[in-house]
Amino acid sequence: MGKDLIIHGMLVDRALRFAAIDGTQLVRDAQKTHSLSRVATAALGRQLLMTSVIATLAKNDGDTVTTVLAGNGPAGNLVCVGRHGGLVKGYATNPDVELPLRPDGKLDVRSYVGTTGKLTLIRDLGLKEPYVGMCNLISGEIAEDFAQYFTASEQQPSIVYLGVHENAADGFVTGAVGLLIQTMPNCPDAAIDRVMQIADRIPSLGTRLAEGEDLAEILHDLFAELDAEYTDRFTPAFSCDCSRERLERALISIGKKELHDLIEQDGKAELTCQFCGKAYLFDRAALEALLTEATDNGGTDER
Ligand SMILES: [Zn+2]
Repeated sequence: MGKDLIIHGMLVDRALRFAAIDGTQLVRDAQKTHSLSRVATAALGRQLLMTSVIATLAKNDGDTVTTVLAGNGPAGNLVCVGRHGGLVKGYATNPDVELPLRPDGKLDVRSYVGTTGKLTLIRDLGLKEPYVGMCNLISGEIAEDFAQYFTASEQQPSIVYLGVHENAADGFVTGAVGLLIQTMPNCPDAAIDRVMQIADRIPSLGTRLAEGEDLAEILHDLFAELDAEYTDRFTPAFSCDCSRERLERALISIGKKELHDLIEQDGKAELTCQFCGKAYLFDRAALEALLTEATDNGGTDER
């Protein structure tokens, strides 16, 4: 089994750009980490694919992108964070909810996510304030919601395809693939027309990848008539960047009094990372050391 892969490129005399991802392994890793139900694997998987792709399109190494799907379905919130190179982490509030298949036999992502709610995208570019964009959900199927977000909130007309294929018997992920196509500034209508001619073939990406074909080969076929140029490659992965230091800062930031109360009442603190499930234990001595720092720092100037 090959590694996950993101491929960037341009289409039709550089009038449009594309970014495609084979994130089969990263979706498997998310499924295992969070014991995701089948429908949660499909939903969070799609969002992880898109978030990873968006992260690779950021300009600078330190830029991060956070996507939050907050719909009215039983999923609760779906939260993903993408970092440089396509590393991505994510979680669902309710990862174990399973829903009946739709009448056509497909996973009911829309009912899991919900059809009303918000998609929020936060780009942290290392500036004082992050850039926050938002749009209403239009379908709950996630790909359509991201397409709507790019078009309405970032004024960048986009095609988004996201597909997570799972075995019916055991939910094993056989293929997880995404494709984003966006117009560049001054993109002529004729170029868009040429891309639209292949639009109905895009879903074949998912089935071909799930059958074991290589992403680069599938794209080569799909874009055969679109003068494709291939520009960059990245290796995405499901990966958390949590650390004991980060949680120490969080504990210090709750304030001197709260930290003191925590020591008196519990004598320890066990914090679990939402994104990867890793547990961090702080015993009395560790908390008392942090209390000293909270005192020194006034307890509120750390984030
Ligand atoms: Zn973590």
